[in-house]
Amino acid sequence: MRRGRFAPTPSGKLHIGNARTALLAWLQIRSAGGAFILRMEDIDKPRSRPELAVQMIDDLRWLGLNWDEGPDVGGPYGPYVQSMREHLYDEAVQRLIRNGWLYPCYCSRAELSAIASAPHGLSSEGPAYPGTCRHRTPEEQAVKAAVKTPSMRFAMPDRPVRFVDALLGEQLFDAGAGGDFVVKRADGIFGYQLAVVIDDAAMGITDVLRGSDLMDSTPRQISLYEALGLPSPHFAHVPLLFGPDGRRLAKRDDGIMLATMRTSGTNPETVVGWLAYWSGLTDRPEPMKASELIPVFDLSNVSKQTVTVTEEALRELDR
Ligand code: GLU
Repeated sequence: MRRGRFAPTPSGKLHIGNARTALLAWLQIRSAGGAFILRMEDIDKPRSRPELAVQMIDDLRWLGLNWDEGPDVGGPYGPYVQSMREHLYDEAVQRLIRNGWLYPCYCSRAELSAIASAPHGLSSEGPAYPGTCRHRTPEEQAVKAAVKTPSMRFAMPDRPVRFVDALLGEQLFDAGAGGDFVVKRADGIFGYQLAVVIDDAAMGITDVLRGSDLMDSTPRQISLYEALGLPSPHFAHVPLLFGPDGRRLAKRDDGIMLATMRTSGTNPETVVGWLAYWSGLTDRPEPMKASELIPVFDLSNVSKQTVTVTEEALRELDR
């Protein structure tokens, strides 16, 4: 059975762009008769707020989505909250260390931000790490370790990564794309890449559908799956929504937040209608229930272009 998920980070409210990703991930799985999972990615505890997780659950249900497993309904692969799964990430770190995939990194924040242009360019997590600590001798490491707790970095293998995106087709990334990334910070917090891979694997996720802002995480995650000897899920990356100002939707505008629409009386079917229209699933933004889209959903019909949300749409959503 196919298994998909929506995995928000409760550090901000869900906006209509997040809602569209959730809707598409849900439709992909529901149209295939599979199981849908909700997982809260609160691994970065200082940035996460429990009340936002509660709000997200209310938002998604209001939109007409449901899940077979999740923080509020439980399930056989729980807990569905990352902050309660740290022992699993720790185990994976130990395994990766044993197999020689990780190295300690002593670079300071200041040193890292001074990396102006790294060989592998920028990734969504900032400039690619140039590998300063990757080749330190055991003696150098011992000197550093005496004064500082390191973060642990994953050494990206020296070969290109290729995968077929279920929406966008063949994707090819240069060897080491994005640079070596942190799987455990010096303060003990596990990295997103590690946690998401461990959880998707442990929860039996077969299909990952998410925003294209995470595309450059995918070669890293595929490399982690390989290093851990785990099969990769199928990936699909959907284009982002842009605001009327031509910028990516962000937390600055309250009018695009689901919680605002929900509490101010917007009809959720109006929201779903726009989300379906923006995704290229319908010709007009007509109000509809999320469940009405299940029988007609086909990922290959989802538009591959970024979408600009118009003022007209925002006015309609704001009531
Ligand atoms: N937690 C991630 C985020 O909210 C998404 C994880 C994923 O879909 O892989 O950006």
